[in-house]
This record gives sequence, C-alpha cells and structure tokens, in this order.
Amino acid sequence: MPEPILMDKIVSLCKRRGFIFQSSEIYGGLGSVWDYGPLGAELKRNVKNLWWKSVVHERMDMVGLDCAILMLPQVWKASGHVDGFSDPLVDCKECKKRFRLDNLIDTKEEHVKECSSCGAKIDLKISAPRMFNLMMKTFLGAVEDESAVTYMRPETAQGIFVNFLNVLDTTRKKLPFGVAQIGKSFRNEITPGNFTFRTREFEQMEIEYFVRPEEDEKWYEFWTQERFNWYLRYGIKKENLRIRAHAKDELAHYAKACSDIEYNFPFGWSELEGIANRSDFDLKQHEQFSGKEMVYFDSVENKKIRPYIIEPSGGVDRATLAFLVDAYHEEKVKEETRVVLRFSPELAPIKAAILPLLKNRPQIVEMAKGIAQSLMKDIRVVYDDTAAIGKLYRRQDEVGTLYCVTVDVQSLEDKKVTVRDRDTMLQDRIDVDMLQKYLVEKLA
Ligand code: ATP
Repeated sequence: MPEPILMDKIVSLCKRRGFIFQSSEIYGGLGSVWDYGPLGAELKRNVKNLWWKSVVHERMDMVGLDCAILMLPQVWKASGHVDGFSDPLVDCKECKKRFRLDNLIDTKEEHVKECSSCGAKIDLKISAPRMFNLMMKTFLGAVEDESAVTYMRPETAQGIFVNFLNVLDTTRKKLPFGVAQIGKSFRNEITPGNFTFRTREFEQMEIEYFVRPEEDEKWYEFWTQERFNWYLRYGIKKENLRIRAHAKDELAHYAKACSDIEYNFPFGWSELEGIANRSDFDLKQHEQFSGKEMVYFDSVENKKIRPYIIEPSGGVDRATLAFLVDAYHEEKVKEETRVVLRFSPELAPIKAAILPLLKNRPQIVEMAKGIAQSLMKDIRVVYDDTAAIGKLYRRQDEVGTLYCVTVDVQSLEDKKVTVRDRDTMLQDRIDVDMLQKYLVEKLA
C-alpha cells in the first residue's frame, strides 16, 4: 500500500470509529491537538496500564509517582529548561513557512539550506536561526506579571528528581531502584504534525532509574533491551522496531549516552522512546539550586553516593499510534476488503461484542443483553444491535474486537451461542454457561 495512503486510512478509521477526534472540532478544530474518543480512551488506558504493570507491579525495584503538572519555576531553571530548552527557528522568505533548522534540507554549501516545503534556497547568514523556547507559560494567581509566571511541565521527569529524597525516606529503597510516572506534558512545538505523533499536549511514561555510578552502563543496556522487548511483547512486529544509538554530537548536554527506540511509521522511522544515561547531572543541579543534599546513604560502606540516572522516556500517544498502525490489516474476503485491527488481546479496547442475530425478536435481545450484563464485571464487552449481523462483524473487526458472540433463534432452545474469532473468523458453538470461562481462557 503506498505509504501516505495507509496513514490517511488510519486517521480516517480513528475518526470514523471513535478512536481519535480533533480538539474543538465543532469550532473548526485546534491544530495538532487531539481528543481520544470512546475507543481511543480504552486503547490508551490499556497502553498505560500495561506499561505500569510491567515497570512497577512486576518489579521489586520500582515504585510509582503522580506529580503535579505545575512546579516552581526554579525547577525549570535548575533543569536547564528556562535557558536551554529551545529549538532554532528559520523562516522561509518564499513560502513564509516556519521550520526547525534540522527540518530543512541540506545543500552542498554550509550556510545554505533548502526549504522542505517549496524548495527555495535559504541563506542562514541572512535568515539567521532564532532560538524559540518550547515551554508553555502560564500565570499563577490574580496578577499576570513576571513574578507570577510558571510553566506547564515539558516533561514529567523533573517531578521525580525533586521528590528523590521523599521517595528514599518513605520507601527505604536500596540502589538500584527506579521511579515511574505517567502524565501530561506540554511543548510549544514549532512543527507539530503527523497526526498524534508530535503534538503540543501529550502524555509521557517515564522512568528514572537510580544506580551506582560504576554500574551505569550495565543498567543503560538493560533498560534499552527491556523497553525494546516491551513493544514486542504487546504485538509490534520486530521488523518495524529498531534501536538507534545517538552519535556523540547528537547527545543532549546532560546525557552520557542515549538510544532511541524507533518505529517504522508510514512517514518513516521515528522515535517512540528515548533511553538516556543522564549521569548525576539532574541531582547535582537540584542540589545546587535547592541547597538540599541530593544523595543516597550507603549504610554498608558508610558513605554518601550521588546516583547516576538511567531514563527510559516514552510517549503514550506515540506508543498508541504505533500499536494502531502495526495492528492495521486489510484482507480480501470474497469480493470485499476486510479491515481488521489485529491488536494483542491485552491491548484490544473491546474483548467481546454480544450481538443478537435478530433485533426484533424480544427474547433474543433479552438473552443477548443478559449475557453482556453478566460478562461485564470480568471482561470488557459491548452490546450492539444497531445493524445487520454482517455489518456488525465488520464494525467489530475494524476496531479490533477479539470475539463476536451471536445469539440466534436456536440459542433460545439449546442455550448455546456462536463465538467468532476475529483473526481466523472460525466459529465455535458454546454453552452460555461456559462462555465466561471460555473467553477468560482465550484472553489469558
Ligand atoms: P523529538 O526528537 O521527536 O522531538 P524528543 O527527543 O524531544 O522527541 P524527549 O524529550 O526524549 O523527546 O521525550 C520523550 C518521549 O516523549 C519521546 O520519545 C516521545 O515519545 C514523547 N514526546 C516528546 N515530545 C512529544 C510531542 N511533541 N508529542 C508527542 N510525544 C512527544
């Protein structure tokens, strides 16, 4: 399938089926800001829950945090964001579009770039890049002056660093240990786009893993592999995932090493998650700015240690988009094209749909609703009688529902229902009494 068409199809399916809508759509839509619809909200929640389960619940060395979006501005001074979190901006004089310097096309001449939209030559000596801070500002309190300025956090990580001592005091964790957090972040991106890939409001899933300085490389390798495997575990195809280590000149000022986990999106290989060895930069900075000693006390060796930090930092929206893209399949069934989202069982927003074959037969409807009601407390199921069965199947395939359970005339007699598998389309006839057990086993 030509690649841009695939992305268009996914965007359209997301809108049509209620995964993702544009923000403020009835007023014309707010660019590059998105709302998750009924199915998108379920999918995104599954992504977050699976992440939390694997990095917090399944590990003894991890705890979670849920910090506020707003923090004292000093935090962003200490972190380097006030002075350094900027992108170089360049305007094209021809088409008037604005670009990040690294999004322009290289030419053979050092100071000349090519506009990626209209192809015009841009002389950087004339149109010198301007630095543009990506943090969003707001005001706290009634007076909108400089002293009231605060920032919407551009990353969740700082909440973890500034709570380092609180976490140590309350959990008594020993090195190495980590803290995980999921939450919204905001960046005034200059060139947002590619659907939910780069937006101005997004959600992050971040881990700050504190280690003995001499063990940093070992843990950096460990987390890079661990996070790569997480995407595979929930269904991303191996050929669509890769690890790209940053070259030395690409590294952020605080990083000793960094690797990106990249996904082969229809618009090219792009970052899903970054794993950075941040050394002791952050704790040192906060120690200097706050005056609090940001160290760990090793009672065995009777000495203070300032841990190094390994940071796997991923985007919830980007992971969700990658899972959507990877799940998208089209196949020919007879003369028709069947669209299926082949989500892994854990990710599928709906596990089973309960469908009456005839919606004007009250006993069938009643039985189907009864089945849906009884399954609801254990499994995410929906009931749907708003179309003929063929159409209902197509709808459920398109949103990745794992099983369709159909109640027909015969069901009233033999108390059996038909269970259709999303991927094989094979059907089983199952006793209603056994249905819950059957589905739970299949989903395990
Ligand atoms: P990029 O190079 O794509 O701008 P980044 O290297 O600045 O990303 P980080 O600061 O490392 O990103 O943020 C960690 C993760 O947060 C990214 O891997 C990505 O998944 C997510 N993320 C960052 N910026 C955005 C954004 N504007 N929209 C959606 N997700 C984002």
